[in-house]
Amino acid sequence: MMAIWSRFGITEEGKKGSAALDITNEASMIYPIVKFPDPILQRASAPVTEFDDELRKLVADMFESMYAAQGIGLAAPQIGIPKRLTVIDLSNKKEPKDKIVLINPVITLQEGKQVEEEGCLSLPEIREKVRRSARVIVKAQDEYGKWSEREGSELLARAFQHEIDHLDGVLFIFRISALKRDLILRRIRKMQRAGEW
Ligand code: ZN
Repeated sequence: MMAIWSRFGITEEGKKGSAALDITNEASMIYPIVKFPDPILQRASAPVTEFDDELRKLVADMFESMYAAQGIGLAAPQIGIPKRLTVIDLSNKKEPKDKIVLINPVITLQEGKQVEEEGCLSLPEIREKVRRSARVIVKAQDEYGKWSEREGSELLARAFQHEIDHLDGVLFIFRISALKRDLILRRIRKMQRAGEW
């Protein structure tokens, strides 16, 4: 994990290297997805403070990693980087305008309720109904540091809440009843024992 971390300028050495990084010619890097119960998924991530080419390269790599994993949302801790950064694309690469980058996001309004099935790249094959707000407004920065507000309802509202939860170290299985969670945890342990997790 340290190697990945330093590559994106978190260390002083990494920062020095950023000027030489040519983001237009560098091939995408597909990150492996970190799975539960890795502790990085259950810790709050740190705010993003540097809006540089390395961050923009990381954002591009996160989209490619998400598409490779067939996901519609991916948070930085899911690739081992504990930063408050998430990408969402409900169209799964089909509509360029659907690409959403949320950096240091804050939910400023939530209203209504919706209960739908949810899944997570860090919990493969696990699906469960989760209660979420039906409509949310999120204030966030983009990869250049510019703040804006976005509104989401239905699936987009769900994606916003699911991904922002990741930045706070909360997985969807901690938003369901203890009884259902215990069944899921038992199922995961069984898969671990069988070498299927
Ligand atoms: Zn997730």
